[in-house]
Amino acid sequence: MKKKLFIKTYGCQMNVYDSERMIDVMAMEGYEETDSPENADLVVLNTCHIREKAAEKVYSDIGRIRKIKDTKKKNGEEMVLAVGGCVAQAEGAEIMKRAPVVDMVFGPQTYHNLPKMVEKSISLKAKGEKSRILDTDLSVDEKFDQLSKKAVKKKPTAFLTIQEGCDKFCTYCVVPYTRGSEFSRKVDDVMKDAIKLAEAGVVEVTLLGQNVNAYHGTSADGEEWGLPELITKLAKIDGFERIRYTTSHPHDMTDDLINVHGTVKECMPYLHLPVQAGSDKVLKAMNRSHNTATYKKTIADLRKICPDLALSGDFIVGFPGETDEDFEQTMELVREVTYAQAYSFKFSSRPGTPAADMDSQVAEDVKSQRLTKLQALLKTQQMDFNKSVVGKTLSVLIENTGKTPGTAFGRSPYMQAVQVSIGDADFDQLKGKIVDVLIKEGGPFNIQGVLA
Ligand code: SF4
Repeated sequence: MKKKLFIKTYGCQMNVYDSERMIDVMAMEGYEETDSPENADLVVLNTCHIREKAAEKVYSDIGRIRKIKDTKKKNGEEMVLAVGGCVAQAEGAEIMKRAPVVDMVFGPQTYHNLPKMVEKSISLKAKGEKSRILDTDLSVDEKFDQLSKKAVKKKPTAFLTIQEGCDKFCTYCVVPYTRGSEFSRKVDDVMKDAIKLAEAGVVEVTLLGQNVNAYHGTSADGEEWGLPELITKLAKIDGFERIRYTTSHPHDMTDDLINVHGTVKECMPYLHLPVQAGSDKVLKAMNRSHNTATYKKTIADLRKICPDLALSGDFIVGFPGETDEDFEQTMELVREVTYAQAYSFKFSSRPGTPAADMDSQVAEDVKSQRLTKLQALLKTQQMDFNKSVVGKTLSVLIENTGKTPGTAFGRSPYMQAVQVSIGDADFDQLKGKIVDVLIKEGGPFNIQGVLA
């Protein structure tokens, strides 16, 4: 009987990507995925340090898994419990100390070693020896070498990591500490993985990196390529009809990259470009290396090249020292720029980051009030954007079946979730195809239409 693997993924798309790769590497060792920890021989908590109280949530999940592990042990079954990801990287030794039930802790750059770690843990357990392993090395190169050998699943969309880590050191962020300094994969290695994805039927590829538009990979002839060159080359791969990239930093939106949105038709008219705040004073305290004027100029340049660009962003409210006036400037910027969708959060301090020790922390109730106000505005803008496409015919990539019979789920070029009525059409014939959909309705979170 095949061994079973349960993975809980917290946080961002990088973590979703990493979890998929863990499933791939463990599949090669004969493990198959299960959706319940009770059935699992191996449980992995792939953690994220970005959200509030991240570590506490992990400890509470460890507590739940401990009970399952104890029950299994009473029944003579062993379970390996592993904690990976950014909390593991930041607090690995502490987790080992505080949670003896955890068998192994590994950082985001070492999960290619998961099979070896699991094997070692199991063999140490069998000998009755201490089976605890801690691996939080930060060198990235080897990880990608190992992962490129993985099998590729058949599906129309895929993530492809091209870059990891960050050197920007925004004062609120743990990424430079948990993912390490910036690393760009070699052009040839990215191309090899991309060709494998296209051969497996991937139509839409999303290039991933913590600071993806800072990409500077080396080509075979030793030249440095930026993201514009890479996207242009990837667009020539047979089968790729859509290319997206995330997450970008305003500082690295070069003119060449902006131009790609006008010259490469496969580059979708959608961009996630976090600004974080609308006050230059706050942006400076965040060490964001852009200000509102440079950000607005970038958006204007993008919209000149790609007039229908759908913009997405991230916002943090209640950063230390943020006054009512600073917050009002954020609201003003949102009104001026307008977003098709956005993510917004209250500032929450991460131990070890400069912002955690800053004076003038903003009171929780003030943060909550500001967030409510900002989210109401962003929600209205998202609704307006979704309504603006009603009556238009959009090209939609069909990814999955819909919630009800006779419907399918897909994405518009602008990343909108689309529920498509397909009538009597055969879903299997539509899956992975880009079809014309006449949009009939636009709601706050999705749009609906019929095959045109
Ligand atoms: S650019 Fe992004 S990943 Fe890098 S430190 Fe700032 S917020 Fe973190």
